[in-house]
Amino acid sequence: MIPYGRQSISEADIASVVAVLRSDFLTQGPAVPRFEQALADYCDVGHAVAVNSATSALHLACLALDVGPGDVVWTSPNTFVASANCAVYCGAEVDFVDIDSATFNLSIAALTEKLKWAEQRGMLPKVVIAVHFAGLSCDMQAIYRLSETYGFSIIEDASHAIGGQYLDQAIGCCRYSDITVFSFHPVKIITTGEGGVATTNNPELARRMTLLRSHGITRESSEMTHLPDGPWYYQQIELGFNYRMTDMQAALGLSQLGRLDDFVAKRHELVKLYYRYLSDLPVVWQRQTNECYSAFHLFVVRMQPKNLWSTQIQVFERMREADVGVNLHYIPVHLQPFYRAKGFAPGDFPVAEAYYEQAITLPLYPDLAEVQIQQVVDTLRKASKDR
Ligand SMILES: *Cc1c(COP(=O)(O)O)cnc(C)c1O
Repeated sequence: MIPYGRQSISEADIASVVAVLRSDFLTQGPAVPRFEQALADYCDVGHAVAVNSATSALHLACLALDVGPGDVVWTSPNTFVASANCAVYCGAEVDFVDIDSATFNLSIAALTEKLKWAEQRGMLPKVVIAVHFAGLSCDMQAIYRLSETYGFSIIEDASHAIGGQYLDQAIGCCRYSDITVFSFHPVKIITTGEGGVATTNNPELARRMTLLRSHGITRESSEMTHLPDGPWYYQQIELGFNYRMTDMQAALGLSQLGRLDDFVAKRHELVKLYYRYLSDLPVVWQRQTNECYSAFHLFVVRMQPKNLWSTQIQVFERMREADVGVNLHYIPVHLQPFYRAKGFAPGDFPVAEAYYEQAITLPLYPDLAEVQIQQVVDTLRKASKDR
């Protein structure tokens, strides 16, 4: 089976993890701050707070921005459920903004309209979570300008997008956002097994996320309510969690970060091959924009309607039978039973729903060979011929 995504682990990656296993610290040692500094340097951002998943990073980001009961958080329906769940963890409401049919990212036109509508009703969002779908940045300048008018905070869910750029700056630099989140799950661009990070230029947001990832406990006397009882002393000043990353994970991440630019360059080469081999098939793919250098986490094709095409289900079944691990990103989040129970219904976000009925994620990862791309495209050609 050719999977839709998979990690690339080198001997050097393995050696870096083994070295931690032979060292004094498996967690809370030197590897995590080293990885955080390397990420902050790579992204040209003030602070990086490493945690055990992007889901945890999104949760901490919402908490640091004081999201709570009575607040509303908006995101894209074309994302993994974690982009929405993080607000629910904080007791806030979630709402969605429909996507653009060409970039599959949050639509700026829809966001502008919805903000006007929400302002009239006194229902403006506290935070907008912009998801960089498949590694392509959203139009962050436009979202930032709207935030100045309407007063919301911005989180970038860049789980797909480490190694990508927007306006010649690394995604994660937070030029147009408060916090950016990356995921290091094995299908993403670089991996730590499980893991994530939140980047920010705001020292207070970094301080709160660092505090909350480890139980809300501080050892800084300046943060305590009174002078320490002694050298053993710590205080719990908020209710936090254990969202820490281990040193084994951080060592793997540090080693993978050194390979990041090569990974993304390789993904670009492979996508160009897809463009070439797919050119005679009635499919479209995500429109790239001049402002962006995508990290190309995913390669999605959209089957065009009214062609002599098999159904989406037939194509999926035939391709999987032929050992091509196609996937679908994403089932619109508002159609999940958990969100339907909150009142969302089919028809609420028609562009994301129409996209869902045509999308197929084809395999894309750095170790994919050109012959495998030919095999994927040939299989797609055969699988889509007749009903
Ligand atoms: C993978 C992913 C997440 C969650 O990442 P984890 O590290 O698995 O928690 C969140 N948002 C998006 C868009 C993702 O693709």
